[in-house]
Amino acid sequence: MEEQTFVYTVLENIRVALAHSKNREIIIGIGQLTGLSAEKIISSLQMLAPEIIEQKPTFRFFPIPGKIWCTECGYKGEPGELTTDKPSPEVIARCPKCNSTKTIKTEGAELEVILSEEYKL
Ligand SMILES: [Zn+2]
Repeated sequence: MEEQTFVYTVLENIRVALAHSKNREIIIGIGQLTGLSAEKIISSLQMLAPEIIEQKPTFRFFPIPGKIWCTECGYKGEPGELTTDKPSPEVIARCPKCNSTKTIKTEGAELEVILSEEYKL
């Protein structure tokens, strides 16, 4: 499943953040164009890395705004309507100018693990 792939790519960062955070805080930025939610990320973690959940970390989530580039009309900026091409969970962003779905996600298509200020190397 795509959401697990997303989470898998940041799993190591989550482990590092957890190991070094004094208050077991994990801060995750969720790209608006990933189609992910905090709930989906936590349920993926329960499957992929239950030992992380067992440590009862504090999760904090913040949104990363999405930006697109339209290959049809050249528009660059905030996406228009977001849809999914079921059964694929991938988010498709429409161009707000020409309504094309031939858009490339330039920002907000990823997960980011942020180290808290408590982080000590
Ligand atoms: Zn366009």
